[in-house]
Amino acid sequence: MTQPIFMIGARGAGKTTVGRALAQVLQYDFVDTDIYLLHTSQLSVADIVAREGWSGFRRRETQALQNISAPNTVVATGGGAILSAENRQFMREKGTVIYLRSPASTLALRLEDAPLQDQRPTLTGKPINEEISQVLNEREALYQEAAHFIMDGTQNPSVVVSDILDVLALQIA
Ligand code: ADP
Ligand code: MG
Repeated sequence: MTQPIFMIGARGAGKTTVGRALAQVLQYDFVDTDIYLLHTSQLSVADIVAREGWSGFRRRETQALQNISAPNTVVATGGGAILSAENRQFMREKGTVIYLRSPASTLALRLEDAPLQDQRPTLTGKPINEEISQVLNEREALYQEAAHFIMDGTQNPSVVVSDILDVLALQIA
């Protein structure tokens, strides 16, 4: 199995942390769409949103997703990548889509602990807890629709990686 593996989930779900660890175990490349955008445009997510709005960011994100999807690659997507039907269909057809699922309370604690590691403009202007709950409510069905596999993302990253390896092995078998 060499098709790309797409990590989806909300901000703080562990897409970068778990995705990177998974890539290491599988000896795959690891690419983060946000970092790819930063390198190719020299602009952060916040810069792009300030200049081009969220719609401009989403357009660039779709392009980035398609550019970086290669065999033997783990792709960490942005939390909102699944909002686009085009992105959902692309990921499902081209690869294996893994949803890292955690409740809003877990995500909020992680983002409070590491606010600088995942700087993105607020989507709603509300306090972080409320924003996360609202965004999860709006997106939960789309994450589930896009995913081939839904993982319990509250566990230690190494456990999540091992669970993913299990479902990937079953997929091949
Ligand atoms: P994402 O890329 O989905 O936004 P990150 O991988 O950047 O999420 O993780 C956000 C924060 O949460 C980081 O500080 C990371 O160390 C922590 N984290 C990620 N996954 C887990 C996990 N499974 N258990 C505990 N902490 C985690
Ligand atoms: Mg990330």
